[in-house]
Amino acid sequence: MQANANVSAEEIARFEKLASRWWDPDGESRPLHDLNPVRAAYVSGRANLRGARVVDVGCGGGLLSEALARAGGNVTAIDLGAKLIEIAKLHLFESNLSVDYRVQSSTELAETEPASFDVVCCMEMIEHVPDPAALIRDLSVMLKPGGQLFLSTLNRTPAAFGAAIVGAEYLMRLLPRGTHHYAQFLKPSEIAGMLRRFNLELEDIQGLAYNPLTRNARLTGNTAVNYVLSARKLA
Ligand code: SAH
Repeated sequence: MQANANVSAEEIARFEKLASRWWDPDGESRPLHDLNPVRAAYVSGRANLRGARVVDVGCGGGLLSEALARAGGNVTAIDLGAKLIEIAKLHLFESNLSVDYRVQSSTELAETEPASFDVVCCMEMIEHVPDPAALIRDLSVMLKPGGQLFLSTLNRTPAAFGAAIVGAEYLMRLLPRGTHHYAQFLKPSEIAGMLRRFNLELEDIQGLAYNPLTRNARLTGNTAVNYVLSARKLA
């Protein structure tokens, strides 16, 4: 793995262990399955995906990538977990969709394809990289001027600690222990500062509410736990 890839090898290994069960809606990726329709609708409601060049950064097994392709996007999707990309590619045989999956880091894509994408999505990944500001810079570099960024992550609040770590990892055993590190959660104000620094204008932010018992997920005004935002690359 490249030294400058802004990636934690330990984190990638942790996600790769989940690869074979990624598309099982009742497996460890269950919260992502439950959240996926809501975040996909958020993206397609705010961006014109039809024919747009879209990239899903840190795509895992491709849950959002496929939803973006189904909505008409011309989707590239990258992840450093080779096993995850393998599973994502295999799933295309079931869905009959087309996605350009690649084993690639966010840093490398920013270097090789600057100003290339109309829409950049990066969901539930920024809390797993060593340098979140460098990730925002790379995402900004990938965007065409006027292009849109969609990003989701966990807030650094007691409520998020309770829901994502104590609740999901310890009480409900939805996620393997050690999936999340509280210190790496980011407050919306911190992300907003990074967006400004890298020429991105925050346009909207919504909470993502999720009830693991009923498996209901929806947008809410409360960003205390999980949230999704949209920002635009200034010219
Ligand atoms: N975005 C997906 C998966 C989230 S899990 C979803 O929400 O459904 C986070 C993913 O980010 C993992 O698959 C992990 O392998 C990947 N990842 C972490 N750091 C990365 C980096 N620097 N470049 C590319 N992928 C990365």
